[in-house]
Amino acid sequence: MPTTIRNLNLQELPLTDVSVAEEEGQRHRTSYGRVTVAPAPDSGALAAMTEPTQDSFGRRIRYLRISLTDACNLRCVYCMPEHMQFRPRHELMGDEEILFLVKVAASLGVDKIRLTGGEPTIRPGVVDLVRQLAAIPGIQDVAMTTNALLLDELAQPLADAGLSRVNISIDTIDPDRFRRITRWGDIDAVWRGIAAAERAGLRPIKLNCVVARGFNEEDVIDLARLTSENDWEVRYIEMMPFGEVSDFQLSNVVSFREIRQRIESVFGSLEEASYDFVDPSRPFRIPGATGTLGFISSVTEPFCQGCGRVRLTADGKLRLCLLRDDEVDLLSPLRSGADFAEIRALMREGAFHKPWGHGLAAGIFAEDRAMNQIGG
Ligand code: SAM
Ligand code: SF4
Repeated sequence: MPTTIRNLNLQELPLTDVSVAEEEGQRHRTSYGRVTVAPAPDSGALAAMTEPTQDSFGRRIRYLRISLTDACNLRCVYCMPEHMQFRPRHELMGDEEILFLVKVAASLGVDKIRLTGGEPTIRPGVVDLVRQLAAIPGIQDVAMTTNALLLDELAQPLADAGLSRVNISIDTIDPDRFRRITRWGDIDAVWRGIAAAERAGLRPIKLNCVVARGFNEEDVIDLARLTSENDWEVRYIEMMPFGEVSDFQLSNVVSFREIRQRIESVFGSLEEASYDFVDPSRPFRIPGATGTLGFISSVTEPFCQGCGRVRLTADGKLRLCLLRDDEVDLLSPLRSGADFAEIRALMREGAFHKPWGHGLAAGIFAEDRAMNQIGG
């Protein structure tokens, strides 16, 4: 356990007016980094060179999560400090660079990508980017994790561009508590976003709920109730420790077992639903419910054995495990003129050295970045 207590006052942070969010957004109106990247192979050549990649433990690497930006229009207490400093945009991957790196990943057998952040929907040009990503040979599935605030407008264009599904973060259905957790969020905008996602066919809809003691552990019941009539998966995520907010996060983890007990004390024993070994979420169902409940117990019962995920941070590092700081810089070599084969060799080598699992039990934390920079 870390000995220093940082952000001791997080729970008492004042609510912030939405104007601050807008102001924050305005600070990021510089353009993204842009260089002339080496040409990638054409579709035929890309398909011909594609081969599966495994790490040193034999896990197949096929899932890439990409942080499109570290910036966000919210400041969830478990994710980042209120006065978070974001990176200048020129340090972040430009569209061309993202497309290049995804082509490299596709040539190594990645077939599924998830766009995340920060808040992916605030990236200018996100719809066009999705369209181009979905057209890359070998990429079968482009999904997104979002706070849904902008989905009312964007869900349909994103679906038309080739986005297949969305996971939406909602930690409580109580408007005041939602505002407290997100520091200024309006829950009505999330409901509008969910409705728009449904209309646009971005299904199955999964709702992500991070449970933080003192904030929303009682709300797990109301969220579970949503599955009675909606074909949604409500997924409870154990809070994970990162960077500067790790002490707060560790001392306020609510375990999978506790969440399950709370739910069962109201709805009775949960039934197991069919289990996909690769999905970190263990699915259950309230008897008779339309939707399901999922539990992501990264902290107390990790699922590293089935993990085939790697991540691209917003500043272009290949992150090998969410909860470890091991990264391979891809953007700097790309900007220095490395060609497709060279970046591919770096990515393959990095993926091969993906660590077996996280080291939370041994007191090893990811200290270098907060969740929004990694792409949770
Ligand atoms: N802004 C988008 C959103 O909130 O859905 C995407 C980025 S967010 C970092 C991705 C997911 O990570 C969200 O579901 C969020 O709740 C979750 N998350 C953020 N900080 C976390 C933490 N410390 N532990 C566990 N999950 C966390
Ligand atoms: Fe923003 Fe998502 Fe982090 Fe909340 S969890 S602050 S919405 S990036």
